[in-house]
Amino acid sequence: MSVPHEHVASFYRASAPRAAFAGGDGFLALDGRAHAEICVIGGGLAGLTTAHELARRGRRVLLLEADRIGWGASGRNAGFVSGGFAEGLDALEARLGLDHARRLHDLSRMGVQYVAETLVSSDRRDIVGGRGGLSLWRTPPGDALDRRQERLASLYGLRLDVWDRSRLADVLATSRYHGALHDAAAFHIDPLAYARLMAERCRGVGVWIFEASPVCRVAQVGAGWRVETDRGVVHCEQVVLATSAYGVLNHTYRPLDRAILPVATYVVTTEPLGARLTDTIRFRGCLSDTRRAGDYYRVVAEDRLLWGGRITTRRGEPHRLAERLKADILRIYPQLGDFKVEFAWSGLMGYTRHRMPLIGQFKPGLWVATGFGGHGLNTTAMAGVLVAAAIAEGDDRWTLFAPFKARWGGGVAGRVATQIEYWRLQALDRFAEQRAG
Ligand SMILES: Cc1cc2nc3c(=O)[nH]c(=O)nc-3n(C[C@H](O)[C@H](O)[C@H](O)COP(=O)(O)OP(=O)(O)OC[C@H]3O[C@@H](n4cnc5c(N)ncnc54)[C@H](O)[C@@H]3O)c2cc1C
Repeated sequence: MSVPHEHVASFYRASAPRAAFAGGDGFLALDGRAHAEICVIGGGLAGLTTAHELARRGRRVLLLEADRIGWGASGRNAGFVSGGFAEGLDALEARLGLDHARRLHDLSRMGVQYVAETLVSSDRRDIVGGRGGLSLWRTPPGDALDRRQERLASLYGLRLDVWDRSRLADVLATSRYHGALHDAAAFHIDPLAYARLMAERCRGVGVWIFEASPVCRVAQVGAGWRVETDRGVVHCEQVVLATSAYGVLNHTYRPLDRAILPVATYVVTTEPLGARLTDTIRFRGCLSDTRRAGDYYRVVAEDRLLWGGRITTRRGEPHRLAERLKADILRIYPQLGDFKVEFAWSGLMGYTRHRMPLIGQFKPGLWVATGFGGHGLNTTAMAGVLVAAAIAEGDDRWTLFAPFKARWGGGVAGRVATQIEYWRLQALDRFAEQRAG
């Protein structure tokens, strides 16, 4: 019998109410036989949103989660909600053309809107921690920021503001950044609280949720599907796989798992720092730099710093994680001096080779919503809507993602190649910064 792992010891878990889910300690494990129209596998935001949107459209839905709701990346991330994908807009445009890239980007913004509207309609604005987002340049941009702003405005209808050094100096006490693009539509949330809210909303529309129910086999039987856990079995007409990187670790469904590369990233939160922090970082929205594996951070609970960064294809927790991220913080804000890191945790993101999610029908009756990489808060919401609308209403918008196939990630060799590519990009970033002085 499977014993679920508790949520990772994070700032979010520590701030959650004791009885984390309405009705007590969570959801029961599946025990025995069950029937549903659709079985969703994975209780992260992709699975939860899909299940909610299906049930809302009148379908009988059952969701299986191996551990706890929001146990994976969805309950551990930095909480930034903004438009776009893990893959950049320029790369999408070069590959697919302007019109296709524009439609994809619009869908990604629909995902931002979905999260925002869910919070408002559930009267849970308290889950929002701050608004606005700054994308920070660590090298002198020249006129690149203005050109980018104009391009995004004229071609994609995005309204971003250029912040020069002096404007940045008003809100960030560091000389490390040379300019930024400000996105007023971005905001940040407590992601674990949001995952819990989505679970409550699922329950509200009749989704049967089971935790501690790791799926070990997914098989086609006649016109339907048989989904097996260690203690139960679900018979259903259709399946949605939303297991991301953790699905690979659980050996959930090999034809899909082999296309997903688990990539780890890390987050710390500090003790309350008082005016030391609030005088240093006066911006209350999302902050991230534009390097490939750059720093991302925000102020939480008035005067604590939540800081994320680094990526690796290693699955274990790195040695002295808290000290390493503390050193990263002090490189930008040395005036914060000595402080205690209260929580340090890691999470796995599911990347594909093309850095775009896998969304749509994998084979008849088997749907996927996975591979969101480091840009999942908006895109999981978007994918949930697209997959549910496809199954329930025949909506074909998911076919915009058809060019992004489930290509083999290369197994161990793929992981090594990705790690080497990451080091190469890091070295290029460092070189560019050194040249800029
Ligand atoms: C540290 C960190 C910081 C991040 N910061 C941001 C950010 O600021 N903004 C942003 O947009 N994105 C961010 N991301 C990315 C974002 O969190 C993810 O893209 C998104 O949460 C993925 O959601 P998901 O539902 O696909 O996967 P997950 O949340 O990982 O959920 C998958 C679920 O499937 C379950 N599962 C796996 N196998 C099985 C099985 N066999 N049977 C049953 N259940 C199974 C797992 O237990 C897990 O709960 C970050 C990620 C990390 C790790």
